Amino acid sequence: MRDTVVLHPGLGVGHLVPTLELARLFLRHGLAVTVLLVEPSGSGAPSAAARAAAANNNPSIHFHALSLPEEVEGDKGSPPPRECDQFAVLRRANAPLRDYLRSALPSVRALVLDMFCVDALDVAAGLGVPAYLFYTSGATSLAVSLHLPHAQAALGARSFGGIGDGDGAPLRFPGVPPFRPRELPRGALDRDNELYRKFLRAFQRIPESRGILVNTFEWLEATAVAALRDGACVPGRPTPPVYCVGPLVSGGDGDQVNNNNKRHACLEWLDAQPEKSVVFLCFGSMGSFPKRQLEEIATGLEKSGQRFLWVVRNPRRDDGASMLANDHQQPEPDLDELLPEGFLERTGGRGLVVKSWAPQAEVLRHGATGAFVTHCGWNSTLEGVTAGVPLLCWPLYAEQRVNKVFVVEEARLGVEMAGYGAETAVAAEEVESKVRWVMGSEEGRALRGRAEVAKERALEALEQGGTSHNDLLEFLRGFDGGASH
Ligand code: UDP
Repeated sequence: MRDTVVLHPGLGVGHLVPTLELARLFLRHGLAVTVLLVEPSGSGAPSAAARAAAANNNPSIHFHALSLPEEVEGDKGSPPPRECDQFAVLRRANAPLRDYLRSALPSVRALVLDMFCVDALDVAAGLGVPAYLFYTSGATSLAVSLHLPHAQAALGARSFGGIGDGDGAPLRFPGVPPFRPRELPRGALDRDNELYRKFLRAFQRIPESRGILVNTFEWLEATAVAALRDGACVPGRPTPPVYCVGPLVSGGDGDQVNNNNKRHACLEWLDAQPEKSVVFLCFGSMGSFPKRQLEEIATGLEKSGQRFLWVVRNPRRDDGASMLANDHQQPEPDLDELLPEGFLERTGGRGLVVKSWAPQAEVLRHGATGAFVTHCGWNSTLEGVTAGVPLLCWPLYAEQRVNKVFVVEEARLGVEMAGYGAETAVAAEEVESKVRWVMGSEEGRALRGRAEVAKERALEALEQGGTSHNDLLEFLRGFDGGASH
């Protein structure tokens, strides 16, 4: 039986995509790979369609469904699963996980867990299976996450949001540029926030793993990687080895979560546009805006006079369920209703609006794409970096503000869209001026130059002898020696 690595991803598309890329990496090194997918979809797990797409696009990966047991009495009547409930949902997967691992045990060399699956460390320990963490965001975000329990404890009874509503003195975390408390995920501003407590608990457990794989490359996040490896982020406890094996980005050889093999019409449209002339706007698998904000963006784009490709999603129903993995399968937006009257006709010659979903990685790699307005989800950030495209950062949720701090302050590969995250919408004038700036100014050109360098460095990291290639080899050596069977 071939040595097998079992990957246990979190529920969202943003977790599944890099997990599949990591799986392909293991396959290339001669290992068998099983990816676990929980079901049913109603639990927040990937939809049947997304699972089928993942399987179709990756015939060499073995997919195994973990059927969640019935909820126990106390869980009944709980609100619809939210992003935050991933911990709870995935903890329920521990029982079928244990059964599966028992049946596969002789060949399993390692279990690789998403951060949201951290409680499966107990299952692995019980069976003597070496367990690792795969952190699907970057090293800077990991440095923040690992240090957060310590920093929160140092605050005593206070909350990060207590000082100036999160606008207090900059926080100084090892390996991270100074940042305002409000750049933390929203829940972290209130120490009693239930979700935040769950995250803190998970962050505290990460160092229990045998090693942490991170979707980054050393050159990109050298400061954070050094702090992690020095043990500076987790005072008083050893930090396990950190393996930077990225950038793991979708290769553009088939959309990983949409089962559609036809070339998307927006790529044909890009074919007809001049080199590096198009601003691409896309906000992740879950990002959406209220109508008011969509109107401001539209007006800003129109006034900028620049070419654009814009993915517009339906404004979010605020019941939490729309934060789930397959939000892109929601009903399509009615563009005539959502966008200013006549906008589509007036901009038709130089702009294209795509409903709900575009093949982002391919769009970014297309020669006509010149800038990327992004929510700074880590996959999007890496897809932009590896395409050599400058970023206009508009963080929305989760750790995206920390990613933005990194991109803008440390890597200097992007600038921020001023006014994001406020009660009021980001103004059309801001959209217009930042888009003009990145496409037309001298500083914009300098930004593009740095983005081109980062793209080269990313490629080098993955080549034979590159840092990410070496880290992967070291990881493989480590788990080989440490496996208990
Ligand atoms: N994505 C895509 N088309 C879209 C929206 C998203 O292909 O219209 C992909 C994107 O390329 C990335 C992933 O979905 O690989 C989103 O992951 P990210 O970490 O950027 O954000 P999240 O969705 O987790 O917030």
